[in-house]
Amino acid sequence: MTTPIKSSRLATDPSLLNSESEPERPPLSTRVLARRVDEVPRSGIRRFFDITATMTDVISLGVGEPDFDTPQQVIEAGIHSLESRRTHYTSNYGTIELRRALAHHLERLYGVKYDPTEEILITVGASEALDMAIRATLDPGDEVILHEPSYVSYRPAVIFAGGVPVGVNTTLAEDFAIDPAKIEAAITPRTKAILLNYPCNPTGAVLPADVQDEIARIAVRHDLLVYSDEIYDRLVYGGYQMRSMAALPGMRRRTILMGGFSKAYAMTGWRIGYVCAPSEILEGILKVHQYMIMSAATVAQDAALEALKTGEPDVARMLAHYDRRRRIIVDGFNEIGLTTFEPRGAFYAFPQISSTGLTSDQFAEQLIREESVAVVPGTAFGAAGEGHVRCCYATSEAEIKEALVRIGRFVERRKSGANG
Ligand code: PLP
Repeated sequence: MTTPIKSSRLATDPSLLNSESEPERPPLSTRVLARRVDEVPRSGIRRFFDITATMTDVISLGVGEPDFDTPQQVIEAGIHSLESRRTHYTSNYGTIELRRALAHHLERLYGVKYDPTEEILITVGASEALDMAIRATLDPGDEVILHEPSYVSYRPAVIFAGGVPVGVNTTLAEDFAIDPAKIEAAITPRTKAILLNYPCNPTGAVLPADVQDEIARIAVRHDLLVYSDEIYDRLVYGGYQMRSMAALPGMRRRTILMGGFSKAYAMTGWRIGYVCAPSEILEGILKVHQYMIMSAATVAQDAALEALKTGEPDVARMLAHYDRRRRIIVDGFNEIGLTTFEPRGAFYAFPQISSTGLTSDQFAEQLIREESVAVVPGTAFGAAGEGHVRCCYATSEAEIKEALVRIGRFVERRKSGANG
């Protein structure tokens, strides 16, 4: 490490010592990262990917992405896009064809109307949508209420934007649906927004209609913005009727609706998502996007358009598989003695593991080392996730069944005290 110039010169040249001089700054090496970046830990999910990458014969229930490849006709649309030399930037908003198709899609599914010319922005995944929406709307010190356990990016995105995340715990006893009374209790004069993600990663929870209505009333009553990450909107089960937050009374003008193609269309690698909001809000989000990103990849936008046009049967096919696997994994965990509530959305099960006497971190770490099954500790999604692990069931039935055998063996050993 090099000695900071200032202190080394002071040591050899006392004339530089001046009582009015600036206080000495600590060396750059101790302050190179911005505090708000420094204070955010690395994603707890990635740590397990790294362990997994060093092992063979691992069954991964860790990564939150479909095991299916992108539907063939969508891949072909991407190939066609490139072969047609569509290799240039698009409008900052994204192609008008994709925005029109999306406007139609959202109106058909949820009855929400967005003007494709100025209320829809195509982004680099829902990840970018989230970051841009938050950065465009938060001032330093603004508080954002969010349910926890929740997706790993929310707290960092709020902190990177200078905001303050205010976690509201959700519990197994509440089926991980956020309690509106707890939201109301968390509101302060600094509260700017509520961040919602239902269907939820990591819990698989959905919002019962009466709870969703009550949250909307609270947002209206307290004049709050709502960021609604609805990336799992198409993955719902057991007759649950998905409603977009933006479709509820009084909500369109205060909702920033975010979604993407990664999950429902098995397009994680294409990096394509969207954000919809009233034009006066979207204009600000567009500004951030325009200076940082310019436009999402043209080839991915063309493929996403094909997904919207012809992907419905594929969504239904994959959903049927997820539903089957969901029942296998939930029943399997409950039989092993790990209490698991019925997730009605996304593709995650969130079994309670506290009966093993292990923390969720210990459980995940010992499970991968002893049985080569990768799961994610619930604490990767906030302290409220302690006592649970997240298991993604977007993997083959055979692998899920084998994982259940291995986890059963692991839990049995804890019960009998061996290795415990
Ligand atoms: N939001 C949630 C809740 C997610 O689970 C994920 C990915 O796991 C994302 C956003 C990011 O999705 P994308 O691939 O569209 O960036």
